[in-house]
Amino acid sequence: MSWTTRIDQELCMGSGICAALAPDLFRLDGDRAEPVRQEIPADERAVDAADSCPALAIVVRDGHRTIGPRP
Ligand code: SF4
Repeated sequence: MSWTTRIDQELCMGSGICAALAPDLFRLDGDRAEPVRQEIPADERAVDAADSCPALAIVVRDGHRTIGPRP
C-alpha cells in the first residue's frame, strides 16, 4: 500500500523538523521543505512528521483518506 505526502509551501515555515525526523522522506529546499517523493511506501514516520509540523503544512494520504496529521 502506498501513501502520498504533500507539503503546503504557503504554510511551511522551514523549521526543518520533518527533514530531521525522516530525511529520506522530507528535505529542506532553501527555507521551505518538500517531500523527497510524493508517493511512498506506508511509513509511520511520515504521519509522525505531519503531527510534529508546527505549521500543519504536511498532509499524508492513504488513497483518498487523510491519515496525517492525526486529529
Ligand atoms: S516541519 Fe512543517 S514547517 Fe517545518 S520544514 Fe517541515 S513542513 Fe515546513
